[in-house]
Amino acid sequence: MRVPGIHHVTAIAGSPQVNLDFYRQALGLRLVKRTVNFDDPGSYHLYFGDAAGSPGTVMTFFAWPDGRRGQGGVGQPAATAFRVPAGSLGYWAERLRGFDVVPSEVTERFGEEVQGFQDPDGLRLELVAAGARGATAIEGFHGVTLAEQRIDATGRFLTETFGMEVAGQSGNRTRFAAPGPLGGAVDLLEVPAGTRGRTAVGTVHHVAFRARGDEEQAEWRARLVDLGFHVTQVLDRQYFRSIYFREPGGVLFEIATDGPGFAVDEAPAALGGALKLPPWLEGRRKEIEAALPLVR
Ligand code: ZN
Repeated sequence: MRVPGIHHVTAIAGSPQVNLDFYRQALGLRLVKRTVNFDDPGSYHLYFGDAAGSPGTVMTFFAWPDGRRGQGGVGQPAATAFRVPAGSLGYWAERLRGFDVVPSEVTERFGEEVQGFQDPDGLRLELVAAGARGATAIEGFHGVTLAEQRIDATGRFLTETFGMEVAGQSGNRTRFAAPGPLGGAVDLLEVPAGTRGRTAVGTVHHVAFRARGDEEQAEWRARLVDLGFHVTQVLDRQYFRSIYFREPGGVLFEIATDGPGFAVDEAPAALGGALKLPPWLEGRRKEIEAALPLVR
């Protein structure tokens, strides 16, 4: 059993309106679900992705309008990378500048061109020009970079448990690869003198990997428990089912099922249009809606 790649990445935003504007207008992603954090229904949970919200394309945010800025560090994802078509970075740099974002110089990493930038909350993002030459739109995730004090335990976990392969090494960066097709790259950045990060606004909360179905997820859960990980029960996230655990370096990982997907409570053409609540929160809709900031 091998993990095929990333299912979604969840980060923390400040203002939900600023977040919505940036990911829809600047990055051209579709809002595929407007809901609340099921563990904290007082805050929005916004999901962005391709037209259907396919696994491997979904960037999600908890919005904490009054939240403190987080701090990058070890035991945390250091960057989330989207895959764009080869030859499109010039287009993207100009587009981002139009949204007051200053992109970094283009660098090369494992034979691919990479451009870094930050979202309005300071979240570190990258565009990797690894897609086929053609249009310009974001195709989904390329991968994530995790900062770790030492990478050996996490590296062994990715290869021996997740079935990933070492695909490259350069300086303090080691690449682990899953088959994909999207979100197959997990880079570990070894930062021995790094201090621990603080998860809050502008940082990633967790990285979710794909399970093709409930049976596969149950197998993952049994395997992780056998290995001594503290794994949550299976939680119903309405659009997928989830288990969570911390990898050896401290980053919160999730394994999420591909189904049932975002069309389970909204027509595909209407995704993201209305505030959706799971059945167990529907009875509190009035109270929940009244406490949320208004967004367009
Ligand atoms: Zn998640």
